Amino acid sequence: EARNKAASDFLFFTEPMADRLHEKMAMERDLRRALENGEFELYYQPQIRLYDRQVIGMEALIRWRHPEKGMVPPSLFIPVAEQTGMIIPINEWVIRTACLQTKQLLDRFPHLSVSVNLSPYEFESRRFVDKLAGLLADTGLPPHHLDLEITERMTMDTERALDILSNLKALGVTISMDDFGTGYSSLSYLTDLPIDRLKIDRSFVQHIQGKKDVILPSIIRLGHNIGVKVLAEGVETETEAAYLQGKRCDEAQGYYFSPPLPYDEFVRFLKEQHARRRAQELT
Ligand code: C2E
Ligand code: MG
Ligand code: MG
Ligand code: MG
Repeated sequence: EARNKAASDFLFFTEPMADRLHEKMAMERDLRRALENGEFELYYQPQIRLYDRQVIGMEALIRWRHPEKGMVPPSLFIPVAEQTGMIIPINEWVIRTACLQTKQLLDRFPHLSVSVNLSPYEFESRRFVDKLAGLLADTGLPPHHLDLEITERMTMDTERALDILSNLKALGVTISMDDFGTGYSSLSYLTDLPIDRLKIDRSFVQHIQGKKDVILPSIIRLGHNIGVKVLAEGVETETEAAYLQGKRCDEAQGYYFSPPLPYDEFVRFLKEQHARRRAQELT
């Protein structure tokens, strides 16, 4: 009786935990199988230089084509991938695929640069710099065509971030600060970090219609004052694009220009842009 009581107490306290553990293990198994079966896919969203509206690069965004659940967005599996450590092999696949697909485009579009999203766990792993060097060598993508997106969260330990970032920069890649303005970065050390670009989070772009918009122009000026490029995320209208251009924002990305596209459609998008430009030059 006493023994049963203890057992049931035990179950009472641990069942939810055990459930979560099982769920996590099932997810991990699912993710591993997805990687082995080639269920992941990269979509590409163009990045536009505002003054001449040329495509200067693209962000690689992962999608999971699940056999039963259909297309699963990254918000539903990246957190679990991070908790289980599966993010390491998954992002290795992302970087390798992005490098290979971008290299294929350089013959026709020699100025393109591809951005990939790093995860905190990966960024802090000691072997990441060496692994990236290996991936660049394997795929043959010249390093200056690869851009690594980090977040403010990853630079909270400034000394450590500085060390990792300078090692990454030494490989010849560029660094962008993603979702800028939403994190906790201390502005005072932003100047010390060897970054090349700020990507302003789309929450700031959504408020452009507001009367007293001081934030966006301030972030753009801040970026220029520390000598980096500024890209605005989540641009959905020409009004927003024109406003940003007027404020000297360098680049933009968003549904207005194009949603993230499967590789083949992205290539078609590039060709169309190219043809349109040629036609304009001829008239
Ligand atoms: P992010 O890096 O900030 O990517 C931008 C997200 O905004 C993308 O969502 C994109 O589809 C969406 N977006 C782009 N333009 C617009 C717009 O005009 N309006 C609106 N409302 N949204 C827009 P997505 O693809 O669902 O990715 C979500 C997040 O998942 C990414 O945010 C990134 O943090 C993460 N992620 C995506 N791919 C990877 C990956 O390969 N590895 C890692 N570690 N994280 C990834
Ligand atoms: Mg990003
Ligand atoms: Mg972003
Ligand atoms: Mg974002």
